Amino acid sequence: MIDLHSHTNESDGTCTPLELVDRALSTGLEALAITDHDTFAGYDRAAQSARAYGLDLVCGIELNARSDGERRRPVHVLGYFLQAPPTPEFRAWLAEMQSSRRERNSRLIAKLQAMGVDIELAEVERLGRTLTGRPHFARVLVNKGYATDHEDAFRRYVGEAAPSFVERHGPHVATTAQKIREAGGLAVWAHPIRLGIRDATAEEQFIRKLCDSGIGGIEVYHSDHGPQDVARYAALAAKYNLAVTGGSDFHGDIKPDIELGTGRQENLDIPNSVLENLRRRS
Ligand code: AMP
Ligand code: FE
Ligand code: FE
Ligand code: ZN
Repeated sequence: MIDLHSHTNESDGTCTPLELVDRALSTGLEALAITDHDTFAGYDRAAQSARAYGLDLVCGIELNARSDGERRRPVHVLGYFLQAPPTPEFRAWLAEMQSSRRERNSRLIAKLQAMGVDIELAEVERLGRTLTGRPHFARVLVNKGYATDHEDAFRRYVGEAAPSFVERHGPHVATTAQKIREAGGLAVWAHPIRLGIRDATAEEQFIRKLCDSGIGGIEVYHSDHGPQDVARYAALAAKYNLAVTGGSDFHGDIKPDIELGTGRQENLDIPNSVLENLRRRS
């Protein structure tokens, strides 16, 4: 069993990188990819102990990108570095991404304060390590009694449908895919189900556009995918010659229903051949 999508507390997960390695070993994973949002800090910190304990640790990243059309939700792009570590140029580009995030965070604080919410940027940033994301906002909102739990905080304050939502001015998906490729990585469309395209024809059209944008793979296995989704995305991957990936999207305690390796109520069991095929391709 392998898991190619996980987050540490260097982005918005709750496990430290070493705790995640521990957990991967006790779950019996042969390989784990750390795919934190916008940072390699979690991977960097886990790499040495993974090597010492014989866990095959894959270097990854997850980035939010803009796509064409009126979709409000960003496309999540995973980057996998299977051959060599990402280039210094790419790491420098990530630092720029982090500044657009800080700018978004300031606007989000201002909007929440204007709604009468008693919240300061400093108390949110205190919860983050390398970066501060909306899940950290959610935690403060829950702690202060403005929301009952993580999901409620997203629904009422920081999610796409909330009145106080502010957009992040991220790069286009074509730029994102190009940066990943230039850095030696494989760019993959993450959890396609989450974009919420109901119509199968429209979804296939969207995949064609992503292929034109330089996306080279699709996350077929994911905690949010039912058996029919897995079958549909596997068929689309074959049709468009896209690499197949899969992972739980483990975040730790903030998403307690998702387990590393096995996903939601054991709906995942990703074969090792998925990673073997990725390595063969790259
Ligand atoms: P950010 O990168 O700061 O915009 O935060 C995005 C992260 O928030 C995602 O990676 C998820 O972990 C989490 N998230 C986004 N939308 C929701 C939602 N509707 N409910 C719960 N968590 C969410
Ligand atoms: Fe996340
Ligand atoms: Fe994601
Ligand atoms: Zn993720």
